[in-house]
Amino acid sequence: MKSKSMKQEKTLSDTLANNTASYSGYSSCADDECFDDIHNSDLGVIASMSDAVYSILEGIGENPEREGLLKTPERVARAMRFLTKGYRQDAEEMLKKAVFSESYDEMVLVKDIELFSMCEHHMLPFFGKAHVAYIPDGKIVGISKLARVVEVYARRLQVQERLTQQIRDIIHDVLSPKGVGVVIEAKHMCMVMRGVEKQNSITTTSAMSGEFLSSQSTRSEFLRLINR
Ligand SMILES: [Zn+2]
Repeated sequence: MKSKSMKQEKTLSDTLANNTASYSGYSSCADDECFDDIHNSDLGVIASMSDAVYSILEGIGENPEREGLLKTPERVARAMRFLTKGYRQDAEEMLKKAVFSESYDEMVLVKDIELFSMCEHHMLPFFGKAHVAYIPDGKIVGISKLARVVEVYARRLQVQERLTQQIRDIIHDVLSPKGVGVVIEAKHMCMVMRGVEKQNSITTTSAMSGEFLSSQSTRSEFLRLINR
């Protein structure tokens, strides 16, 4: 156990000492720049996560010391940190910075926001599209921030239902709009990979507030616009 830990630390410091190392012969997904979002203060976490991945490799019957896997524990650790960086981001703070007073009071809709998340039950990806709409009540937010909010919550371990509600709730809380509508359509790898008959299943979730709940015509307009 101890030697394994030391080995990981050595791998990590080797990487730091030689950031430009190239690994000819590896497939392109072994590109260490793929998930490069790690601050120096995270290196202790990366080292202990790498130890855990090393154990997983042993557990599945692999030899973590063979050439192709030598750097895999650290790569996986870095990838996982990147894919869960939403834990270290504050959606409320991010939204509040981009709120403006404006009298526009029709529906604002951003559709087809690409979404990549991981289910909290299997830590396998689910991915698809989010459609986010709101009806302002004196305040609007920079449109790109609606996509950013999706990203902040998606880059965590999630269930699709909660992800949908968290996006609705933060927009509702920060903007106090007349209503919010969120629809997410996603494919879950934990279902898709289990059997042929589930390959094309798509899960749809929705969360609404205000006029999206109380007004049939508002809800219908929203659903019509996202299905077009
Ligand atoms: Zn799952």
